[in-house]
Amino acid sequence: MKDDSPQANGEEPPSGDRCQALKEFHSAGRGFWHDVSDADWNDWRWQLKHRITTPEQLQRLMPTLTPEEFAGAKLANHKLALAITPYFFNLIDPADEHCPIRLQVIPRIEETHTAPWEMSDPCGEDSHSPVPGLVHRYPDRVLFLVTDRCAAYCRYCTRSRLVSNASGYDFHPESDRQIAYIEKHPEVRDVLLSGGDPLLLSDEKLENLLSRLRAIPHVEFLRIGSRIPTFLPQRITPGLCAMLKKFHPLFMSIHSNHPRELTTEVRDALGRLADAGIPLGNQSVLLKHVNDDAEVMKAHVQKLLMCRVKPYYLYQCDLISGSAHLRASVRQGIEIMTQLRGHTTGYAVPQYVIDAPGGGGKVPINPEYVLSHNADRVLLRNYEGKIFEYPEAPDGTPLSKPPKEIEEPQLV
Ligand code: SF4
Repeated sequence: MKDDSPQANGEEPPSGDRCQALKEFHSAGRGFWHDVSDADWNDWRWQLKHRITTPEQLQRLMPTLTPEEFAGAKLANHKLALAITPYFFNLIDPADEHCPIRLQVIPRIEETHTAPWEMSDPCGEDSHSPVPGLVHRYPDRVLFLVTDRCAAYCRYCTRSRLVSNASGYDFHPESDRQIAYIEKHPEVRDVLLSGGDPLLLSDEKLENLLSRLRAIPHVEFLRIGSRIPTFLPQRITPGLCAMLKKFHPLFMSIHSNHPRELTTEVRDALGRLADAGIPLGNQSVLLKHVNDDAEVMKAHVQKLLMCRVKPYYLYQCDLISGSAHLRASVRQGIEIMTQLRGHTTGYAVPQYVIDAPGGGGKVPINPEYVLSHNADRVLLRNYEGKIFEYPEAPDGTPLSKPPKEIEEPQLV
């Protein structure tokens, strides 16, 4: 029988159907590793040991590798290493050069094209580092770089100068100085463990570090930033979750950019973390051809909620050297936010931010909802584009007069 579906005709499915299809959960499957035992496949150390790390391996597993990708992969280990877990590799569509998973982890020669405004440390972290491996940028919290390794390497990584074994350590060699700094600074009430990926440490090492931090009386709150739940869900073992739950309040920020990353394996891993009482947030980076599309983003944020994860930040891609081919415009970012806010659950809407180049910190970027703000009124635009007036007395006290909808907006 003739298949008349839009897909069979090479057309895009209608947008609602596309969003629904993206929200379906699938397993990553076994792919080339169908002969591997369940015990090995589900063992995170096996996954790490069998990562794809050379251009030759990549080409053997994916003969559709383009010349730009092969050239990028050959140069990768001089800069940001190539590493992809077998699990995550199975999410790549080898037939699609613009596959959103492929673009995130397979190097391209464009990484060597740099613009004068691009930087190796775009967030100015090094200039806010009182001790090696510790960034104290904001008043009451610090970023604690635990390791210089990740399960796989994102081609747009803001810390590419530090990760992929750039410094040759597993556990940060300055960890005693990092902890001593926090002990001496009572204003530090929040410690974010990141890297590199803290969940690459063994349970024992991580427990030791968390115990030392928890013993500092003024540290109220611990956070872990990790891409492991999406790159290597096998690492989220019951043992790890049981250990983490001893250190509450402990939050986790995961990193996922596209709904296809949210597989059944990832959903189950996130469920284990949530069951351990760990509040989960997601950080996405706005990336060209990956998620710079309102329908894809909507499917992603809704699917995150289905995985018990609150979409937390959407980052404008930092001005990291060699990332122009992956950078979407701020205009697109604002347009996507306009299409999310009010059009879906408030919990699903992340805060779009630009990390101000050079170390200015995160600046929230919002579509324009306040059209004017005079002494006696605020003019507002709602998500449907309708204009409303909120009256206000000159001293800031709201008036009793009810706000009204303005039919024909007269913008001031
Ligand atoms: S997991 Fe995080 S630190 Fe590691 S390469 Fe990706 S963005 Fe960079």
